[in-house]
Amino acid sequence: MAGVKLKLKKGDDVIVTAGKDKGKKGKIIQIITSRQKVLVEKINIVSRHLRQSEEGGGGIIEKEAPIHISNVKYLCGKCNEAVRIIRKLLQDGKNVRACKKCGEILDK
Ligand SMILES: [Zn+2]
Repeated sequence: MAGVKLKLKKGDDVIVTAGKDKGKKGKIIQIITSRQKVLVEKINIVSRHLRQSEEGGGGIIEKEAPIHISNVKYLCGKCNEAVRIIRKLLQDGKNVRACKKCGEILDK
């Protein structure tokens, strides 16, 4: 997998394209580059049971579990749908990400 460049970044809005949360939208809260996975807010929630001795005195906590990066797509706020990200070279030499569909620059 070496050399694979992840186009998504922390804070990006994405839409889930596969799995039990298919069609749901959320914001990337963490990227696990080495495993090609992302944590997305309120997506792929798993429940964990806490033992009585642990903080909070037991119970169940809900937490996001990582999902594979190929199962999410960037959600363009302007197009309001999943889009492909392209690279765009600006006049000032900056290489930024942009929406393939509407051309909106994603890196501000
Ligand atoms: Zn767009």
